[in-house]
Amino acid sequence: MFFVKFYNREVLKNFLLPVLFLLMLVGCALSGTAGKAGSPEEGMIVGKAYSHGVKNDYLAGLHIRNEYVSGCSDCHGKSVDVDDSETELNKSCRNCHGTYDEFKAKIKQEQKGHKGPVKVSGHEGHLIDVSCTACHSGHSGSFPYCNYCHSFDMKIPFAKAKTPYVPENLSYYYDKEPNRVETADVLVIGSGGSGLMAAGVAANAGKKVIIVEKMPVIGGSSILSTGGMNAAGTKIQHEKGVMNDSPEIMVKDTLAIGKTNDVALVRILAERSNEALEWFINAGANLTLNPKVKTGGTTVPRSHYTETGAIGQYMIPILLKELRKTGNDVRTNSKAVMLKTDADGRVTGALIYGKHSGLYEVKVGATIIATGSYANNQALVTQYNPQLKDIITTAQPGSHGDGVVMAEKIGAKAINMENVQIHPNAAAGTSIMVTQNMRIGGGILVNKSGKRFMDDLAPRNKMGEEILRQEGQSVFLIYDDNVAKLRKKVHEGYIHLNFVTTASTPEEMAKKLGLPVDAFVSTMKNYALFYKNQKDTDFNRPTISEPLTNGNLYAIEVIPGIGGTLGGVAVNTKMQVLDENNQPIKGLYASGEVVGGWHGEDRYGGNAVAGNLVFGRLSAESAMESLGK
Ligand code: ADP
Repeated sequence: MFFVKFYNREVLKNFLLPVLFLLMLVGCALSGTAGKAGSPEEGMIVGKAYSHGVKNDYLAGLHIRNEYVSGCSDCHGKSVDVDDSETELNKSCRNCHGTYDEFKAKIKQEQKGHKGPVKVSGHEGHLIDVSCTACHSGHSGSFPYCNYCHSFDMKIPFAKAKTPYVPENLSYYYDKEPNRVETADVLVIGSGGSGLMAAGVAANAGKKVIIVEKMPVIGGSSILSTGGMNAAGTKIQHEKGVMNDSPEIMVKDTLAIGKTNDVALVRILAERSNEALEWFINAGANLTLNPKVKTGGTTVPRSHYTETGAIGQYMIPILLKELRKTGNDVRTNSKAVMLKTDADGRVTGALIYGKHSGLYEVKVGATIIATGSYANNQALVTQYNPQLKDIITTAQPGSHGDGVVMAEKIGAKAINMENVQIHPNAAAGTSIMVTQNMRIGGGILVNKSGKRFMDDLAPRNKMGEEILRQEGQSVFLIYDDNVAKLRKKVHEGYIHLNFVTTASTPEEMAKKLGLPVDAFVSTMKNYALFYKNQKDTDFNRPTISEPLTNGNLYAIEVIPGIGGTLGGVAVNTKMQVLDENNQPIKGLYASGEVVGGWHGEDRYGGNAVAGNLVFGRLSAESAMESLGK
């Protein structure tokens, strides 16, 4: 800061800045990095440059200018080179500003006793383990990560428009040379539920595992899952008096919804669901079950859920904790761009593009693709299903189908790509999926005429289609305090996000929503009667667990959106990816939403989480078996 204070503007402009610039170039040339400095001293010089001109207009400039830091090393640590996960940088942010959890606690404290809608803050969101640099950039425009999905009015320093995460044409990398090679036993691509499970299992068995995640945050779409986990014949079911479930019934129920599912995969899912649930509980999950509630038109209550919030938000930290126990962690900002094969066609790993370290190759004995869906890749969705043009999705912003694209490039077979899950419950005007448990727990759907129009527990795809036939292609989800209590935290979250209409009577609600009052009041009266008689003479809803007469009424306008995709790579029962001749591609495994076929035409709600745990484990077990150690 000495320079800035001592010299006047002219001296700065005509002499000092050119000298600094020259020194910076020399520094870069010496360290061999373009634009980065390799040592703290060189970093100091570059740091001075950040207090002037256009670079001054970002966070790093602000820190230098105001003497919050004395040079680059204060933020960057010993080496100014940044690791892809930006770990050191984030440590430095936290050292001065506090941890994410501390921010969260402070905001909670501030909000205590606050009346009316509270201000949404990125420092207390539903994602976990969020790095500061996911939103705040030192040397370029910052952008609140939340707004890749939401449209919150969030103030952030140096906010500049940023390109949203868009699908990238991976062929760009096909002829590029990696700058280094790393070796390990297993490469896991993707850090959603299935990737974390697979990585944890392999790492726990002593394998050297590298797990890469292209986004700056961990958890994929799995972390957004608000439903439950299906498992059959569980201790929890027995404790709640549900004695009549079995893997066979779970298979039947899944097939009744999905119709064209890969039966062998469904069988594995059902047969290993209880083992997966037991593992989850042993790892710290505290789950329960509502014995009155059968999800999605199935025959037995088997959706295990947590009372503390959404299941995905609950599952991912547990999986991450288990992975970290093994000394491993996820490399974020690290995107797999191409699978590598040897002369025999065996997959030997992948090319990874690290945000800071550039293109490198990971060589392994087994590669597990766990890259999730292609729901956020409009081109891919409409290539297989043109009718779905412009329909919104509730999937996380990085769901681009990279796994399928990479696997197809080396000869893998993709199946059921036209099958996309239309979720009936996206909150209108957002890309938030409202949990189906609000319906399953007792809520109903009402159209703009104030009337119910179908069995509110019908399978999701069917319901999505039906909503599209209603006036305005949107309807209202109606529930009351009794239903809200079943998912207290989730309901509070919706109130917090300001998309819930609250009323104390059906009349008031109808007026607030602009519905014909008489029609809506009579719909609610009839429904209470159906509850009393336990018979829905209008649409034959199979379970009526609430009369919707308890406490306040709540309404959320919902529209159909792509909840997830159902197509993907074909696998065998060992989760080996298959080629066009149904032969396993050696060295390549897949797990989770990137796998096609197991959901059929529609996903049975609660199977995705079960599949994360069951197929994540199975893919790792098979991968390890192939390593022969
Ligand atoms: P699943 O339920 O199958 O685990 P998720 O959507 O939860 O699926 O997780 C998939 C993860 O994979 C996401 O976090 C996504 O960002 C990540 N991913 C997708 N493509 C790539 C890629 N090319 N390289 C690294 N990670 C990827």
